Amino acid sequence: MLKGKTALVTGSTSGIGLGIAKALAAQGANIVLNGFGDAEGPKAEVAALGGQVAYHGADMSKPAEIEAMIAFAAEQFGRVDILVNNAGIQHVARVENFPVERWDAIIAINMSSAFHATRAALPAMQAAGWGRIINVASVHGLVASAEKSAYVAAKHGVVGLTKVTALENATTGITCNAICPGWVLTPLVQKQVDAKAAALGLSNDEAKKLLLGEKEPSLQFTTPEELGALAVFFCSPAANNVRGVAWNMDGGWVAQ
Ligand code: NAD
Repeated sequence: MLKGKTALVTGSTSGIGLGIAKALAAQGANIVLNGFGDAEGPKAEVAALGGQVAYHGADMSKPAEIEAMIAFAAEQFGRVDILVNNAGIQHVARVENFPVERWDAIIAINMSSAFHATRAALPAMQAAGWGRIINVASVHGLVASAEKSAYVAAKHGVVGLTKVTALENATTGITCNAICPGWVLTPLVQKQVDAKAAALGLSNDEAKKLLLGEKEPSLQFTTPEELGALAVFFCSPAANNVRGVAWNMDGGWVAQ
C-alpha cells in the first residue's frame, strides 16, 4: 500500500517508534530511522521487511539537527511523505521538585520537536498534495497523572499542534492525527516498573500488575505492533478524511 512512499519516524531505534517503522516498512515504505543507541540492529530489522532504510542521528532537542534530518531524508528518497513524530522521554517528580533541566528537555523532545519536524516537512508535502503526519502523543495528552507535569503538558501540547496542523491543511491531501497509547512495555515504561518494584519491594511481575491495575482496565499492555497497525490505517485511503483526531489505544484508561 505504501510502495514508493518514504516515512521518517523519530525515536525509532526502540519501542513504539521501531514498531511503527516496521509496520510501515511491511507496507512497502522506505524508512528513515532516528534515535539514540544502536542503529544497526533496528536498521537490519526494518530492511528485512523489504523496503530501503536509512538512519539519521539528529538530537530531537536541537532544531537545526531536525531540519538537517528532513533535508537528509529528501536527499535519500526524494521527500518525506509520512512523518511520525514519536521521540520522547519521561521524568517523574512533583512540580515543586521537578528539575528545571528535565522540564526543558521534555518540552523540547516531546513537544517542540514535533513542531520543528512538521514545519520542515510540510512544504514538500504541500507541493506533492499528499502527506501523513502522525504524532505519537499519549493518554497523557488527554488526561493527567500526578508527578508527570512536563510530560502531560508536552503531550497536551502535541494534541493541540495536531489539531492546528490538521485544520491548516484540511482542504489538501495532507492529514495530521495523534495516537494516544496507554501503557506500552518499552524501556521508557520498564524504568517506571523498576522504580515501583524498588520502592515497594515487589517483583517485576507484581510491579507490572500494579502499574496496569492503577490505570488500565484491560490489565494489558498495548503493543508496538498494535500501534503500528493504527499508523498504517492513518496512512491508508480509508483515513483520507480522518483529520485532527487524538485516538487513544489504552485498554479503557480514558473511558473511566
Ligand atoms: P523508548 O524509550 O523505547 O523509545 C524512545 C525513542 O526516542 C528511542 O529511540 C530514543 O533513542 C529516542 N530519543 C530519546 N531522546 C531523543 C532525542 N533527544 N533525540 C532523538 N531521539 C531520541 O520509548 P517509547 O515508550 O517507545 O516512547 C515512544 C513515544 O511514545 C514517546 O513519545 C512516548 O512519550 C510515547 N508513549 C509511550 C508510552 C508507553 O507506555 N511506553 C505511552 C504513551 C506514549
